[in-house]
This record gives sequence, C-alpha cells and structure tokens, in this order.
Amino acid sequence: MSKLRDDLYQRLHGFQPLKRSYKKQGQSDWYYLDPRGASTVGSMKQIDVSNENAINPQINNILADDMAKNPNDYYIWRTRQDDKVRSKHAEREGKIFNKHIPPVDGNPGEDYNCRCWAEPYKPQKVEKLGITAKVDLSGLPQYAENDKSGIKSDATFLKADINDKELLELMANNLLETEKMKNYIYLDKFGHITSGVGALLDDEKAFKSVPWMIGNRLATKNEVDAAYNMFVYKRFAKDKRGKYIYHNRLAESFINDSPLRVSKEYMIHKMMKHLQEDLKRAKSKREDFDTYPVPLKLIVLDFYYNKGSFYNQPGLPQALNERNAKLFQEKMMRNMEDRDKWTKKQFTLIPKSFWNSY
Ligand SMILES: [Zn+2]
Repeated sequence: MSKLRDDLYQRLHGFQPLKRSYKKQGQSDWYYLDPRGASTVGSMKQIDVSNENAINPQINNILADDMAKNPNDYYIWRTRQDDKVRSKHAEREGKIFNKHIPPVDGNPGEDYNCRCWAEPYKPQKVEKLGITAKVDLSGLPQYAENDKSGIKSDATFLKADINDKELLELMANNLLETEKMKNYIYLDKFGHITSGVGALLDDEKAFKSVPWMIGNRLATKNEVDAAYNMFVYKRFAKDKRGKYIYHNRLAESFINDSPLRVSKEYMIHKMMKHLQEDLKRAKSKREDFDTYPVPLKLIVLDFYYNKGSFYNQPGLPQALNERNAKLFQEKMMRNMEDRDKWTKKQFTLIPKSFWNSY
C-alpha cells in the first residue's frame, strides 16, 4: 500500500481534513468529507472544522459505518506473544487497525524484523467475543505529535495525487450514480438500442455478444434473436406523418418489452473497459493530461464517455489552453444536458490556481 494511496483513502473516508483553496462566506479553512451514503466525492457532505488539528466530530459514526461496509479494510493486530515482541507492538496485540491508517512503523510485518501478523477482521466474530470494536487511529497525522507534513491543502490533493485506477473508480462511481444502471433493453432518445450503463447495442454482433440472462439462466439464441428483431423494428418504426414512434420515450417504458437482462457484473465490466479506452484516448490526445486537477480529468473523461470525445467540443480545448475558467464553464454548459449536475459540481472543485483568468 503506497503512502499516497493511504493519504487519498484517509481524505476520501473522512479520516483526514482537507484545506479549502478558496472559501465562501461562513466556510472555514478546513473540512472533512463525509462518505456516508455518498458514492461520489462530489456528492459527499462537508464537515467544517475550526483548524487542521481538529478531529472529525463524526469520526465514530463514520468509523462504524465504514467497518460495517468495508470489513476487509480492517484487521486485528496479532503478535507472537513471546518475550521477543518489541513493547510497542505488544501494546497493539488484539487492537483493531485500518490498513490504510497504519501506525508510524507500518502494518504488521512491515517494520524491520517484525514477526507480527494481521488477523482478518470479522465483525460477527468480534461481536461474539464481546470485544468493543475500537479502531486504533494513532497513524493519523493529527494524532502524531510533531509531524504535520502529511497534511496538504486540497489544491495539492486534487492536482495529480491519484493514479489511473483510482481515477477510473471515481468515474465509474459517477456513472453508476448518474446513469442509474439499467439492466434491461431500451431505445435512447435518438433511437439507439441501449442497455447497461449507456452501452450501444445497435450493432447486431455487439447485441448478440452480450451474455443476456432471463432470470438465473442464459437466454437462448432464439430468445436473443427475437429481442434484437423487435428492437430493430421499434428503432425504425414511423407513424403516418413519418415521425419515429419509439424515440424520445422514457427508458422505463421499455422494461416489459423483453425479458432479457444483463448482470450487474457484466455492466460494470463493460463500463470499466469503456472507461479504460476513454482514458487512453484522452491521454494520447494531450500530454499534459496527467497534470490536470482530478475534477478536470473527470470532466474530460465524462465527455469522452458520453460524447465520444472532449477535444472536438466547440470552444472547450481553446478555453483549456488559455486556462480561462469563465470561457471553459460557458462552453462546457453549452455542450451538456441536464443530467450533468455532477459535471458542474466537478467544475467548482477545480482549484482556482489552475486557471490564468477566473
Ligand atoms: Zn512486530
């Protein structure tokens, strides 16, 4: 586990505060993100605190929530329980730690000659033993005595301190939230055959390569053929005045047209592949992509995912070249639909210092 990853984890999970690079009236310099109930960074609540050393007032509730949701992030520190165990580690015997919040000398086995080990944390087992599941947070910067170097402002944090995998995870979370995964087949407003997270299925081969399910079994070839033929018919069906009958309808109105469904796993798999491709293309187009602040990377990726590209959107590349925030925002809005609340939010998260004119 890299330090950077741990650092990011701690901020995204409400364990470390962030510094505002600019603030609105009434806001303080420092705040914690509250991950409870939110699936994207943009939708997380912010908990203001008076200074960088203030402990998150919600820390216990956030911890309880996180331990229930992500037990694999936690472990119980175990020692050999003999007289060779260094006293510092002996004190940790039986205590619960979060592996992304390791003590100064690391997780079990990481320090020189350490023979300690991490026992997987099992909530039911801990409950049965009657142990109070208290997590040792001594690895957090504000608990360390003299070291404040670990605390960065959000301007630094949001700049480039995130790897591709984490970037794609953030992006996937956004899509899962905003596009409300549809596991059935429908026509989008332009009449394209669609399913999952916006995957286009107009192409017969693409459509028939999906492992369609009916209930818990795979659909047969005949069932898949029938569904495809029906949606192709609906795609091109026109009324007497020559207007497409089935375009511009709500996706939900197609739910019962076909019993075919895609599994959640398959949709996520397709979506991640799509995003990986988008990221590759975004990077090959602009060599400074890696230096963008994270929210800007997410905006660019969102355009790739939903519009096929970012750099062919009128006015946007120029606004970016000039680092002109106002122009960028104006052009961005022009190229977006109502669903892009999330993207607008990302724009507000781009540090002011990134722009030449604001
Ligand atoms: Zn040890």
